[in-house]
Amino acid sequence: MHYISTRDSAATPATFCDILLAGLAPDGGLYLPVEYPQLDDVTLTRWRQVLSEGGYPALAAEVLKLFVDDIPAEDIEAMTARAYTYPKFSREEIVPVTHLENNIYLGHLSEGPTAAFKDMAMQLLGELFEYELARRHDSLTIVGATSGDTGSSAEYAMRGRDNIRVFMLTPKDRMTPFQQAQMFGLDDPNIFNISLDGVFDDCQDVVKAISADAEFKRANRIGAVNSINWARLLAQVVYYVSSWIRVTETNDQRVSFCVPTGNFGDICAGHIARQMGLPIDRLIVATNENDVLDEFFRTGDYRVRSSADTFVTSSPSMDISRASNFERFIFDALGRDAERTRELFGEKVKAGGFDLSDDPVFADLPEKYGFISGKSMHADRVATIRDIHQRLGVLIDPHTADGVKVAQGLAEQIDTPIICLETALPVKFAETISEAIGHEPEVPQRFAEIMKADRHVADLPNDAEAVKRFISDNTEA
Ligand SMILES: *Cc1c(COP(=O)(O)O)cnc(C)c1O
Repeated sequence: MHYISTRDSAATPATFCDILLAGLAPDGGLYLPVEYPQLDDVTLTRWRQVLSEGGYPALAAEVLKLFVDDIPAEDIEAMTARAYTYPKFSREEIVPVTHLENNIYLGHLSEGPTAAFKDMAMQLLGELFEYELARRHDSLTIVGATSGDTGSSAEYAMRGRDNIRVFMLTPKDRMTPFQQAQMFGLDDPNIFNISLDGVFDDCQDVVKAISADAEFKRANRIGAVNSINWARLLAQVVYYVSSWIRVTETNDQRVSFCVPTGNFGDICAGHIARQMGLPIDRLIVATNENDVLDEFFRTGDYRVRSSADTFVTSSPSMDISRASNFERFIFDALGRDAERTRELFGEKVKAGGFDLSDDPVFADLPEKYGFISGKSMHADRVATIRDIHQRLGVLIDPHTADGVKVAQGLAEQIDTPIICLETALPVKFAETISEAIGHEPEVPQRFAEIMKADRHVADLPNDAEAVKRFISDNTEA
């Protein structure tokens, strides 16, 4: 399988390992496979058996092998077996699916080491990076900024790995106590927490300044693990397959997915699974107050927001002004027209957005690709958390509540089971849970220890040069 960029149809297709460590394509586009492998009835039936006999890691290996032909099959199997294990994931199913009520189910993506869905992709990425760097006799220094889930998930995935270092910038005193404990409690020689004297935007600006210094980047082998990485999406395709298997008995049964969406990474994997022929009915995009995607799917107008118009909400991992993976879907929807995709995302998005409302492509989206959308406000999420807790005895986090609220609103018009993807555990968002149910969520046993661990973090000024010095001082040549 080879990979192409969404913006250049003439570039030479690359292999999986070529693009594994890369971010954007050289032309600024995102990578996608030349074509989506097609799942026939025989394969789906075989995969049911693979999941029941070999479990989630065996199914993950089957999915990966369709997209990766430059890593031997047995190495892929060994990597998925290490990435998705119990009790690193707190449930043996890795991604259990439970019934909520009526035709609504929960797909549990938050059983990993940091209690957020980012672990599903990061745990595999850690294996793949270490493997490929060893093959190339190369090393990688990951530099990132985080206000929550991505940073801790990356650190837990990369800790203790050969040839990889992680420097993660966090805004001083702005993270929740649980998030701080989770990250700063790590005591691995290849993990460096930096508490920057500034806000999250300052952290991002410092990372950008470092990325802009080509010389420093080369000398220190700087890379990223951002949400546009193709391998992250690929890892996420697996739980669409496993969740479909868990709620159906025969291959003619379809399911829908409702996905709390930020950068369009999670649901983009659902789109890919559907394009492969997995029997998916609807893909429901659920947003919070930052509704740039809900607006697009309702009106055809993709209007990116400025940071001043981006709200800070109680589902912070969905607080985005533009959706970085959206370009992949639009490329497909436009019949893979790289020229038009480049015009829309390389030019129009920079100038504020684009409008497809009069384009026949837009009218086709619900039927051809299954997409519909909805949104929630803070009060909706709090009410949903309270209601689900009171009536059903199930506690969900604010991101998952967004999905459940949107699914409930659409449930009557959808006649397939709707699997709402749970993207974080309540313990990460104690304040909103308190508001909803009157007390803080229980800290699961597996996290009890970290609250007491010693803290490992360097306090640095809001100054890119100081951060660069810290990185070079802690990176061997
Ligand atoms: C990252 C994240 C999301 C959004 O996922 P995207 O892939 O950006 O759409 C939703 N919920 C939680 C808890 C997250 O960490």
